[in-house]
Amino acid sequence: MNIRTRYAPSPTGYLHVGGLRTALYNYLFARQNGGSVILRIEDTDQTRRVDGAVENLLSVFHWLSLEFDEGPHRGGAFGPYVQSERLGLYHDHVKQLAAKEYAYPCFCSSETLEQMRSQQAARSMVPMYDRRCLRLSREEAERRIAAGEPHVWRMAVPAHREVVIHDAIRGEVKFGTDTVDDQVLIKSDGFPTYHLANVVDDHLMRISHVIRGEEWLPSTPKHILLYEFFGWEPPVFAHLPLLLNPDRSKMSKRSGDVAVEDYRKKGILPEVLINFVALLGWHPGDDREMFTLLELVREFSLDRVNKAGAIFDQTKLHWLNTEYVKAESDDVLFEHVRGAVGDLIKTNGEARVRYAVSSLRGGAGSYEDLATRIHDVYAPLPEADPEMSALLQESATTDFIADFSARMSSIPAEDFLHFEKLEGLFKQAATEAGQAHGMKGKNLWRSLRSALTGQPHGPELAKLVGIWGRDRVLAELQRSLAEARSAAAR
Ligand code: GLU
Repeated sequence: MNIRTRYAPSPTGYLHVGGLRTALYNYLFARQNGGSVILRIEDTDQTRRVDGAVENLLSVFHWLSLEFDEGPHRGGAFGPYVQSERLGLYHDHVKQLAAKEYAYPCFCSSETLEQMRSQQAARSMVPMYDRRCLRLSREEAERRIAAGEPHVWRMAVPAHREVVIHDAIRGEVKFGTDTVDDQVLIKSDGFPTYHLANVVDDHLMRISHVIRGEEWLPSTPKHILLYEFFGWEPPVFAHLPLLLNPDRSKMSKRSGDVAVEDYRKKGILPEVLINFVALLGWHPGDDREMFTLLELVREFSLDRVNKAGAIFDQTKLHWLNTEYVKAESDDVLFEHVRGAVGDLIKTNGEARVRYAVSSLRGGAGSYEDLATRIHDVYAPLPEADPEMSALLQESATTDFIADFSARMSSIPAEDFLHFEKLEGLFKQAATEAGQAHGMKGKNLWRSLRSALTGQPHGPELAKLVGIWGRDRVLAELQRSLAEARSAAAR
């Protein structure tokens, strides 16, 4: 069988992480089987149309490196791939159904339908269309259509039937047709509903597998009936489990970030998002947690997709991002933050900023996080911590720092670029000045930190001197000494 899958979003303006998971599973399944994955835009609900939504979607998929084989951006043999450009097809198909009496026009106004619903509700009945227009004679229906009366087209759902879905994830799922409404197929604005357009397009585009979210499962009996009415072979269906918040509530826009763009802004890497989303519902059969897209293509299988809802755990996502950042070499990491620290490279030179990257990368959760750390280390110092200033004003400390400062200034400028050597020279200057002034251990390092930064915590001092360079190191030491001396004189 020629495997063809599709991702069929409505262009609502952003890509939901659940949508990404659907797109990804369709992609993985198609790639794994040497098939094709198609992007189809389902824009039949004109009230929900958002300008630029398709472009946005494409740019997000491009960022994620998920490529579709056919779609509005690159065409294909089964286009157009935007439903609003296929309206004629849906009308032709509803005519085919009407000819076989599987579809009928309905002239009921929204007021009539509203009345029907409230009467049914009052009698505790499930609200369903009561099929009054199904009883109109063909002549009357044709006369009213010719007279231009507003109408929709509904599907004539057969009574007392059982529809069985053979779902690749859920097994057999059965629905009785008595609970299935006579679904509108073409609306009064001439646009098809999701159900008709979706079935017609899946058939015409030769989709072999429909892989989509569980929320579409209740629609599937209607779709299966439509396939039957047309006399078409239905595709294989696979309904993916819901995405849940850690408290098991449904993930929605209100309950937190759901757009892929939100995670992109937070510095989550595209490969991390793919890795993470792949594991929402699918499991590899062992406890591995890191997968490249290629590995996923090899290993993904619908058999290992769960039925139960999948929890979207933000903490795990951020942990995974940190793991990816950790796994990169210093050089690759530097290239990723180069753009964000361009100004610092200009003023401090590339070598120092590279050294800052390798010195400060530990525990960075994202490139943005690392770039912020680098900006912080070069930024002017905040006001000194009072306890640290007090320490500096003790005469033993001031003398020690003056000695240390003299030793640092005797290190030639070029050694400030030989970072490993500099770390040794720095430690030597510190211990020798310490020995001369009876300072050692914690006291010695705290005094140095106070003189260099005025803060109780911060980057390793032996690294900081290389990151800053000679001028700044000496300037900070001079400033601290001057402040300590003038405070002591007061
Ligand atoms: N247009 C539907 C959506 O927005 C497609 C559902 C399906 O895949 O059948 O998700």
